[in-house]
Amino acid sequence: MTENQTDEYFEIIYKPKSSIFSGDYLKIIPSDPNFEPTKEQQKIIINHLAKEYPNNEIKSTLSKNVEFIDSGGNFDSVKCNLCGKNIEIEDWQNDMDRAYQNSFSNLTFQTLCCQKETSLNELEYNMPCGFSKYQIEIINPGIENIEQIGLIKNIESIIDKKIKLIWAHY
Ligand SMILES: [Zn+2]
Repeated sequence: MTENQTDEYFEIIYKPKSSIFSGDYLKIIPSDPNFEPTKEQQKIIINHLAKEYPNNEIKSTLSKNVEFIDSGGNFDSVKCNLCGKNIEIEDWQNDMDRAYQNSFSNLTFQTLCCQKETSLNELEYNMPCGFSKYQIEIINPGIENIEQIGLIKNIESIIDKKIKLIWAHY
């Protein structure tokens, strides 16, 4: 395990010699974008994951600001969570730019489709994306055993928060 601390982030990296490079990542984030786990919790989680995935590179990062956690090439479209209509990427990008100017501290905006207030974090991304200060990335864990090892339940019980899985491809 390697730990790095700067003014902007704290990260823990587990990089076994046997790890192989892949463009497929599983990102795990809390559903609350502002949630900050303690260092102790971050260590417990990465140790737990390193036991489940001893041959995969795993990184845990807690950033000072909320970040957009994207799905890379898996990003296809985004829908309004209130009325289900497709949101034009250009319109979404404009709302993203506005929110980014405040370091994503406020994710609410007014939809064009149904003229209601919602959050960039609540929109229906295909495939899923999210916003978070805290993220865990596992390189190429494979989708098969996620349920088997109770990954979601275990992490949720460590941080006492709901989590989201984001499958990214680069
Ligand atoms: Zn709408």
